[in-house]
Amino acid sequence: MPSLPKWINDTVENVWSSKFKDCTVTYMETITQHLRRIRFETDLQDVQFEPAYAIGIRVNDRDFRNYSPFNFNKESGTFDVIFHIHDTAAVGSNFVTQLSIGDSVKILVPRGKRFYEPFAKIHFSIGDETSLGSSLSIKEAVDQGKGTFICLHELEEIIALETLHLYGYHSPKNSTMRMIEALNDFLNEENEAIHNDEAVFYLTGNGERMSLFRKFLKARGVSPKCIKSQAYWIEGKRGL
Ligand SMILES: Cc1cc2nc3c(=O)[nH]c(=O)nc-3n(C[C@H](O)[C@H](O)[C@H](O)COP(=O)(O)OP(=O)(O)OC[C@H]3O[C@@H](n4cnc5c(N)ncnc54)[C@H](O)[C@@H]3O)c2cc1C
Repeated sequence: MPSLPKWINDTVENVWSSKFKDCTVTYMETITQHLRRIRFETDLQDVQFEPAYAIGIRVNDRDFRNYSPFNFNKESGTFDVIFHIHDTAAVGSNFVTQLSIGDSVKILVPRGKRFYEPFAKIHFSIGDETSLGSSLSIKEAVDQGKGTFICLHELEEIIALETLHLYGYHSPKNSTMRMIEALNDFLNEENEAIHNDEAVFYLTGNGERMSLFRKFLKARGVSPKCIKSQAYWIEGKRGL
């Protein structure tokens, strides 16, 4: 999302007011030094939600940032977000560190392109810290049906996966070999499902890493229609 003058963002909020919800922060949890889980509460009855949809938060006068809700519950009017606090000087990360329980935050309701493939047999989510929320929302959807969920995250602090009950493959940051090895293991084991286009891969997180894994999967015979991808951040680029 580009940085815009305050008056334009004010106008968007006014003209598009039905798309914004006043949300209250009701719960905060420090998962690791760089990961914070925050629960928001509002009326969600008229809000559409799909796994890997994103909300928009106006983090200052000029900037919005995208984040992935999960644990989305229309009845209780609550959803959670996992924020990666990668640099407290960056406006999004800084905004999150200032939040307290009881704060009111205006949030652009979840939206996005169709990402989740409900009829796949195997759902494989791949990404980094920024992908944890979308992985959890995909896992929640899979758990309600018959499919299998699996994930591969490259993280600085692996302990987060245990706290979030996101069991699967993991790797330290920027360890390409470890990521490729994990993907290889999976591809060898699920050869038939791959051949029959029954496994769908959801790639999110760092844009450059994502395209590397996309190329690898395609080279190993995964059909392009079974690879869904969306970059969540790119080195040197502010707020995608
Ligand atoms: C659809 C969508 C869903 C997303 N969901 C989530 C989510 O659930 N949780 C979440 O934490 N993020 C999520 N993101 C990513 C988040 O919007 C970006 O990381 C955003 O750039 C953070 O804003 P910022 O102001 O903190 O940093 P910015 O000011 O935007 O970035 C400053 C610089 O920091 C670097 N940078 C940005 N993000 C990261 C990062 N995560 N790690 C390391 N370096 C980084 C880049 O080099 C960038 O140039 C999502 C993005 C999209 C598009």
